[in-house]
Amino acid sequence: MPKRITVHRNNKPATTGAVKHHNTENRPGPRQRGYDTAWEKVRAMKLAQDPYCNRCGQPGVDVHHTKEIATHPHLRLVLDNLETLCHRCHSKHTGATT
Ligand SMILES: [Zn+2]
Repeated sequence: MPKRITVHRNNKPATTGAVKHHNTENRPGPRQRGYDTAWEKVRAMKLAQDPYCNRCGQPGVDVHHTKEIATHPHLRLVLDNLETLCHRCHSKHTGATT
């Protein structure tokens, strides 16, 4: 009969199965939507350069991709493709596109 190879599982700590990684509710992580550290940097840079909403001049809080990442993924981190928007204009914009 074949000899069974003993595998030592020392690389993982013994858990009781009760450990869950997401202890902060069930929010979908921003990384899952394509937003990562690089994006956070570009976004902060954009807000620093252009802190006001491009539509109404209110203090901007959101950075919007003029050309969508879905169709222009290579422009995701390009400042020229970004637009500062206030929350109101951003939701108006995203809500208007059906
Ligand atoms: Zn606005």
